[in-house]
Amino acid sequence: MNVEIEKGQKGAAVIVGASLSGLMSGIALAQEGVQVTIVEKVGEHRIGGSGLRVDGGTFGRSKTEKLLKQLVSGGKSSVQLWASIESRLREAAKQDDRIKLRYNTRIVEVEQDANSAWVVTDQEERVEGDLLIGADGHNSQVRKYVSPDKPNATYAGYMGWLASIDENDLPESLRPAASGPSVEMFDSYDGFKFGSIIEREDKSSVAGSRRIGCTWYDNKRSGLLRQLGCVEGMVVFHSLNGQDIPEQTLRELEAETAGWPEPWRFAARHAIRERTLIGIPIKEYVPNRLAKGRIALVGDAAHVPAPVTASGFNESLQDAVALGRCAENCVQGQAAVQALEEYESLRLEKVRRMVQSGQFYSRSFGRP
Ligand SMILES: Cc1cc2nc3c(=O)[nH]c(=O)nc-3n(C[C@H](O)[C@H](O)[C@H](O)COP(=O)(O)OP(=O)(O)OC[C@H]3O[C@@H](n4cnc5c(N)ncnc54)[C@H](O)[C@@H]3O)c2cc1C
Repeated sequence: MNVEIEKGQKGAAVIVGASLSGLMSGIALAQEGVQVTIVEKVGEHRIGGSGLRVDGGTFGRSKTEKLLKQLVSGGKSSVQLWASIESRLREAAKQDDRIKLRYNTRIVEVEQDANSAWVVTDQEERVEGDLLIGADGHNSQVRKYVSPDKPNATYAGYMGWLASIDENDLPESLRPAASGPSVEMFDSYDGFKFGSIIEREDKSSVAGSRRIGCTWYDNKRSGLLRQLGCVEGMVVFHSLNGQDIPEQTLRELEAETAGWPEPWRFAARHAIRERTLIGIPIKEYVPNRLAKGRIALVGDAAHVPAPVTASGFNESLQDAVALGRCAENCVQGQAAVQALEEYESLRLEKVRRMVQSGQFYSRSFGRP
């Protein structure tokens, strides 16, 4: 079946992936009058427990950048829950009649010719547009098309453990003051350890209603990640969910938290005991290209920095802004190719430098 997107006067775009980068890119393109269809393999309601550092400064920025920053952060730099950012972006996309969201639709093929670019879905539909954007994350299938000589992000040799608990699960005596810092590094001797207090969507920073997060890096468990199939060779396939962490590893992790300051020690132990802890193998991708003809990459599909850079999400927002700027005139016909060439020239060097800035740390900590 062939699904042609209704073309606006400015042209049509297909975006693969309705996570943060796909939604931001869709909103940015729609702002320029492009008709957008976003295709997402999973359903609409999903869980993302931890926080992202968001740069909210809007001084002197373009209209689209101001809009996106307002949506993701309410205009202030802070740590925001992934789920809160996603739901605000999703609602904004739903309210824009130039954007169609199609959930539960996995793409299995990507192709282009002189006139259009398209995806083939697992329901054997062909969805086409003037341009196609891969926002399909670190294991991107669209990247395999754009950059077949460098298709995969590679394992950086260490992992991050994420523990996140409800503030109400902390004893009252351990609850942080409402005026305290939102992020604190509490040890850097054996890999970084961070604690974070994350505001909730509804009650902002009122004590008792926040998430208490704890993240620490670990370079001792590459063998475990390989044994459990999270990493194969140098390619990362999936994270390690609490339910799949072996008992022995949980016991070792609990022992490692012994000297930590509160409330981070309590938060980590609570997540270990409840098996809500998540282990994320750290990966990196320095791109050689961001576009090929009518097809381009944004977000983690385009560049995967180590989390020490704290830049991945903010640079994904800049990808969306740049994409909108390049689509300003039109993306119909040949204009799509020119727009994506311009996008690549605006973004490639910046994002390469961003990923490379985190490789210094990965080389020293990840490959001891
Ligand atoms: C459910 C979820 C929860 C997350 N929670 C956190 C968090 O708490 N903290 C944090 O720092 N980061 C989190 N992340 C990662 C974070 O969103 C990214 O690292 C970063 O913000 C860049 O986002 P992205 O949109 O480029 O990539 P991703 O967020 O990885 O999104 C890629 C999207 O593409 C979709 N997709 C992949 N392949 C296909 C396909 N073949 N067909 C159709 N769709 C496809 C995926 O389902 C996904 O929605 C989460 C990601 C997800 C998907």
